[in-house]
Amino acid sequence: MQETIDLIGHRELRNLQRYTRETGQPTKLSDLDLEPMTSFQSIEIDEEHVTIHYNKTTKRRYNANEVTHKEWVYKYNDDPEYVEALRRVIELSRKHLYDLPENLACPPGCAECCSGYEPFVSRVDVQRIADHLKMSYDDVMNEYVVKRDSADGFSVGWLRKVDAKGASSEDTTDKCVFLMGSRSGRYYCGIYQARPADCGAFTPIGCEDVDTALPRRGEYKPGRPFEPNRKRAARNGRMSK
Ligand code: SF4
Ligand code: SF4
Repeated sequence: MQETIDLIGHRELRNLQRYTRETGQPTKLSDLDLEPMTSFQSIEIDEEHVTIHYNKTTKRRYNANEVTHKEWVYKYNDDPEYVEALRRVIELSRKHLYDLPENLACPPGCAECCSGYEPFVSRVDVQRIADHLKMSYDDVMNEYVVKRDSADGFSVGWLRKVDAKGASSEDTTDKCVFLMGSRSGRYYCGIYQARPADCGAFTPIGCEDVDTALPRRGEYKPGRPFEPNRKRAARNGRMSK
């Protein structure tokens, strides 16, 4: 093991000597930090250098803490290949900023997933929707759920789909019965507070259906909530007061 480290040390020494010859920058093996970079705190980039601060440690003292970090500086001397690689890394980081947990949000009004998937519902989901709409459990099952018990009995079915005219549909690409709004960018869930756990657990991470044309910023105001068809329910005598 020791031998291996020595070999690495000698190889790195040769690299450092070559680097010194090529760049004129003073280097010696003791400057080389072979400790792994376990955590880094910041990256600064100027026209010639990339500086990384890492492995911050805090020594707790009586009246003041001593905070130290290590520093790695790479002088790239306008090396065009390196600058290009750096530019690409920064671009990719910006692009994937949206994937960070703190930025995890769907573009408002997207709701593409409310048309391509059928959320499964459990008894608890159905009861929550029933309470929200002031209906009975059975009414919600009859009106809004395609009944199909899962093998383990947890799901009792999935939310019904409706076509553009609001008629019940077998086409799984049609929209969820509770989806409100006229078009992408204006869609919203009509029972948001009571939506099935399946919907709540759906995240935009890795979502391939996202409507990328929609802006992510800006205020979004959903419209009126979903209202059950009270006339039909009254006609069927199923609506609770
Ligand atoms: S981004 Fe994906 S998960 Fe979010 S609303 Fe659109 S389709 Fe659904
Ligand atoms: S219940 Fe709401 S969130 Fe779930 S699929 Fe329907 S409209 Fe979308």
